[in-house]
Amino acid sequence: MTKKHGKHQRGQVHAKVDTKSAATASQAAHEPPSAARWARAAAEIADGVPHDVTAPPARRAAEGIVTIRPGQVCDLSAIDPNADGGLDKEASKQALAAERARIQTLQERLYAEHRRSLLVVFQAIDTGGKDGTIRAVLEGVNPQGCRVWSFKVPSAEEADHDFLWRYHARTPSRGMIGVFNRSHYEDVLVVRVKGLVPEKTWRERYGLINGFERMLTLSGTTVLKFFLHISKDEQKERLEARIADPEKHWKFDPADLVERKAWNAYQAAFTDALTHCSSPHAPWHVVPANRKWFRNLVIARTIADTLEAMDPQFPEAAEGISGMTVPD
Ligand code: AMP
Ligand code: MG
Repeated sequence: MTKKHGKHQRGQVHAKVDTKSAATASQAAHEPPSAARWARAAAEIADGVPHDVTAPPARRAAEGIVTIRPGQVCDLSAIDPNADGGLDKEASKQALAAERARIQTLQERLYAEHRRSLLVVFQAIDTGGKDGTIRAVLEGVNPQGCRVWSFKVPSAEEADHDFLWRYHARTPSRGMIGVFNRSHYEDVLVVRVKGLVPEKTWRERYGLINGFERMLTLSGTTVLKFFLHISKDEQKERLEARIADPEKHWKFDPADLVERKAWNAYQAAFTDALTHCSSPHAPWHVVPANRKWFRNLVIARTIADTLEAMDPQFPEAAEGISGMTVPD
């Protein structure tokens, strides 16, 4: 990425429009308010978004993650959910703390820069570990710069709109890290498995999702997608643990047992989504997720590496700050 440090000063952006020329200024005075607002918005977009956002930063996934390349057919059965990269569990917990510290430092820069944003998407089968990953990886991040959204069965209002409406409304604004716990992919996953819309409709959505993610990328949002890959045996153990522990009963939904019967249908739906929606700007990352400590480490590392590649910069300070004194 080329660095365009500190160009985003709201005052400057507006001044640019207002001082173009006397003719423009007098013209602007006679324009209806909405036209003036559009002109300001256009200037702000031109000034505020890096011009090379079409070339997103390299998202080098941490070792142990399988990244689906565009055009590659995803074969989940060939990816071992037990993989742990030969890492040591205790050492990995220490390493996770170091990756969290990197995320915290880079997040502060992203927030201060106020030009671009990061959207982290998590998808998995029930008990796949989405909540646990979010808790482990984002612990310590300034809550002001990060928002987590969990998507459930659409409300009546959401269902009355196009399928992307509720997701688009929650994409991160400049400077923010946004996290989707479930996402727009539910509309080609659960919706497909339960037959909630005709096949023609969900098939069309792969292309619509690719377009949506491309639009976000062009607008300065880096889209980072993780699929947490667990085995059917591991899901059984996790469901049994929820039944056995009264403190975990709140997490147990008897409907999960019905969903489990559709395991193969879900794997087929994940396979197609990961195959059709791994674009150059937003590839899918498959995370072996039976071992929670391994999952947490490689995801934290990939998020930290992605933020580092984005290379957010503090805005330029006003001149002469270093020499200033604070009056009594
Ligand atoms: P949980 O994440 O366990 O609280 O469950 C949320 C539920 O909402 C899951 O069963 C999802 O499959 C379901 N869900 C999420 N998005 C959609 C959607 N777009 N259409 C139908 N069901 C959905
Ligand atoms: Mg659930």
